[in-house]
Amino acid sequence: MKSYFRIEIDRMEGYVPGEQPRIDNLCKLNTNENAFPPSPRVKRALAEFEWERLRRYPDPLADALRDRIAQEFGVGRANVIAGNGSDDILTMLFRCFTSPELPLACLFPTYSLYPELAKMQGAGVIEIPLEPETFALPDDLLERAKGANLLIITRPNAPTGNSFPMETMREICRKFDGVVFFDEAYADFADDNCMGLAREFDNVIVSRTFSKSYSLAGLRLGFAVGNAELIAGMFKVKDSYNLDRMTQALGFAAFDDREYLAECCEKVKAIRREFSKELKALGFRVVPSQANFVFTSPPDRDGERCFKELRSRAIIVRYFRGAATREYVRITIGTPEEMARVLAAFREIY
Ligand SMILES: *Cc1c(COP(=O)(O)O)cnc(C)c1O
Repeated sequence: MKSYFRIEIDRMEGYVPGEQPRIDNLCKLNTNENAFPPSPRVKRALAEFEWERLRRYPDPLADALRDRIAQEFGVGRANVIAGNGSDDILTMLFRCFTSPELPLACLFPTYSLYPELAKMQGAGVIEIPLEPETFALPDDLLERAKGANLLIITRPNAPTGNSFPMETMREICRKFDGVVFFDEAYADFADDNCMGLAREFDNVIVSRTFSKSYSLAGLRLGFAVGNAELIAGMFKVKDSYNLDRMTQALGFAAFDDREYLAECCEKVKAIRREFSKELKALGFRVVPSQANFVFTSPPDRDGERCFKELRSRAIIVRYFRGAATREYVRITIGTPEEMARVLAAFREIY
């Protein structure tokens, strides 16, 4: 059949999300969901949710939720936009700031959705390779990013889990001639974050998601904070009712429970510390993680074999083929029991 598609769409491969398999006794550590349930306040909000009100459209601006988020980060409502997952925020971002004349710059390896979104816009992609093994930023990052209109720094990075020095981030914001977007999907598990830079610089946007630290991947909620003019432009291109009533109500309840969030992240970080230590004792190379997963290379440096061996034991992790990542697997931090199961499997395999 002849193709009726725009050439940009024909050229896309399409983003492939991590699999959501149905296997008995599955240990699912492939898509960085939280090991723990969401705040009990979410359960209460769900029980109290007035189902009759679903007859009405939701608030298109999600004002109550945005006000609560703004209050937390010391900004105004006009500095906050919410989306149907942070993937929705990314869609708005690419619609606003990329085109055939306005390329994207991003890291490599990083979240592989970005190049796909760029292709939809017909925009070029400048991939900036991270240093081998350490996955640190190259010294010439700004040189390489030159000409791009949008620079995405994923911090902590995925799938590598490491972060980058704050001073370098500030320098990038100061010197880059375009929008700097920090994808902070994992920032709640990290020692620091770039929210202050979003307040300080006119060209900076920071995004967060409820999918990881808030244990709400199934709900679909994310948000971004930045200069009011940039945020206003993003409002122009968003779906009118991108957040349903239930998401706005449950998201508010989850966000409002700061204490639960902090406790939950502390638990994940403690498990991450212990798991990383055990991996090293087994001869694994472990990239220091600031996220709720670890990127690790087995003693034989064969990521694919590791992935397959685990899979045959109903443990699903993520493997990324390609020269930069093939020695590694990415393992989500699960419960202590799940981590013990992974370590037991590794003792058998290696
Ligand atoms: C998980 C993830 C997202 C997407 O989050 P959603 O809110 O579930 O859409 C965005 N960026 C990175 C780097 C992620 O790992």
